[in-house]
Amino acid sequence: MESQLQRAPVNQNDQTLKLLLVDDDAEDLYFLKRLLAKSGRKHNVIEASNVDQAVAQLQQLPDIVLLDYHLGDQNGFDFLGHMQRAGCNLPVIMLTGVDNDELDQLALTKGVADFLPKRVVNPVTLDRSIRYAHRDFMRLQQLEYLAHFDTLTGLCNRRLFMDRLSHSFEGVKRHGTSCALLYIDVDGFKQINDELGHALGDELLRGVAERMSGIVRSSDTVARLGGDEFVILLENISAAEAHRVAQKLLHTMETPIELQQQRIHCSLSIGLCVFNEESRSPDEILTSADRALYQAKTLGKHTYCSYNRNLIDALSRRVLIEQMVQQAVESGEFELHYQPRVCSRHQNVLGFEALSRWSSRDDVQLSPLDCIPVLEAMGLMDPFTCRVINKALVDFPALDALAPGCHLSINVSPSNFASSRVKEYLLDQLHQRGIDPSRIELEVTENLFIERQDSAIPMLEALRAEGVRVALDDFGTGYSSLSYLSHLPIDTIKLDRNFLQAVPHSERSSVLVATIVDLAGKLNLNVVAEGVENQAQMEFLQACGCDEVQGYLTGRPMTLAQLQTLIAPAG
Ligand code: C2E
Ligand code: CA
Ligand code: CA
Repeated sequence: MESQLQRAPVNQNDQTLKLLLVDDDAEDLYFLKRLLAKSGRKHNVIEASNVDQAVAQLQQLPDIVLLDYHLGDQNGFDFLGHMQRAGCNLPVIMLTGVDNDELDQLALTKGVADFLPKRVVNPVTLDRSIRYAHRDFMRLQQLEYLAHFDTLTGLCNRRLFMDRLSHSFEGVKRHGTSCALLYIDVDGFKQINDELGHALGDELLRGVAERMSGIVRSSDTVARLGGDEFVILLENISAAEAHRVAQKLLHTMETPIELQQQRIHCSLSIGLCVFNEESRSPDEILTSADRALYQAKTLGKHTYCSYNRNLIDALSRRVLIEQMVQQAVESGEFELHYQPRVCSRHQNVLGFEALSRWSSRDDVQLSPLDCIPVLEAMGLMDPFTCRVINKALVDFPALDALAPGCHLSINVSPSNFASSRVKEYLLDQLHQRGIDPSRIELEVTENLFIERQDSAIPMLEALRAEGVRVALDDFGTGYSSLSYLSHLPIDTIKLDRNFLQAVPHSERSSVLVATIVDLAGKLNLNVVAEGVENQAQMEFLQACGCDEVQGYLTGRPMTLAQLQTLIAPAG
């Protein structure tokens, strides 16, 4: 069984070598042993008098072979063929009575280390030949080792690993089997390395390598790609079994690793990719496993994730949104568009609603509906709303120039009512800029009164006492309790666009809208119908006395610059 951990070959000059003497002639064998004895060096000698015996003796792991050319009805090259087929790589010195150039040439091409005619060999030349052949062989082994193994852990390196991965990739294509690739990271390795020093860090990596090697089959490949990145190639394995191996790997790290009397706890993050004949390339398999690893790390480490395109896409999207909202808060990297609120009878602009717009550096457009929940989850809603207020108030004089006396609507979230930060920021900004608070309308949704039962009403009352107006947004989507309309501190209700969609063709919806408009009017509340997209809706709203409309029919959300080219400044 081949071990996963390969030690670097070492060349010791004073090493007692184990020699396999292969000769079918008993006298010649005796003669050879005498030559060796006379060289004054100690050797371990094992013998064989034909090819079969010689093949059997390879089990004894000789360091070098002294091979006669004539071996009964076979010859030395037959034995070399056996060695090659068995993947046995050893230095061979050919010792023969047949001393001709042709054989010499053949021996050279077959990779024989030396060719010594028995007739001229003596204890000194034989000893020298053995030592040089062994030295050259060891050098070659060392070079091979460096080319294919990681010297720190003794695992395969990236090159050998990629070789094996290509090989398995070919295999699954040919045989319709499946294999799996695990991409592994040691959680928090950098910190451990910095805190404990590089020497202990290296030892830890060796410890991890040993643990991992201990749980896979000899036919699998464990490799270190560099740093704390490892990969495992599981040959001919089902998805279910591959998942079990990943779990076993996590489990095996639960026992701390002992390093110089210290017990180090470390865990792994694992990305798993099972591949079969449908996979496109070894590189793609590696990338998929790497992305799954990234996902595992995002999920909180000491875990594994299996590659799944949809999940990964969702995750990358989430990461993108997180980056974008972070930048929005830190450096104000988002825009405000303004949608006009228009008088239903005279079509003049009565106000603007500020709506946030997000685009990433590579021009991915995101809806505020994607970003606002992430801002909430990251606890960034207050600084974000302050940014919105700031941008909107900076633009306010220009908006006022377009529609004098207009209102400016700003959306706020329930979480903005957890503290008075947003309220104080707004009042302070209005004061500093000399803007009349009654020109500002904050849009809140019904869930504010459910989520912030204690603070919402007093805070809104305090804002209204300063003159700030309040609108109940999206009316018709939540509980839409009519009792809200009578007792909440609000000035305006905004009828949700879903509510309006069925108007005027659905009689029930039309009656409902007309009733709410009527009721609101009686309660002295302003009503704005949102999402007005067509003339039929507009005419219906005009007929039932809804004063204000907002929607694509009268104006989409636009940048200030777009508004300025569209609406001629008043006066
Ligand atoms: P909302 O406050 O109900 O804003 C109206 C939404 O309807 C806007 O979507 C607007 O672009 C869209 N809309 C306007 N007219 C029409 C129409 O005729 N047809 C259709 N189909 N849609 C129309 P948007 O800009 O995607 O914003 C979505 C929501 O995100 C907003 O809904 C609001 O709740 C939230 N939001 C946007 N900006 C902010 C912000 O700065 N702060 C907070 N807290 N929330 C914001
Ligand atoms: Ca709104
Ligand atoms: Ca709305």
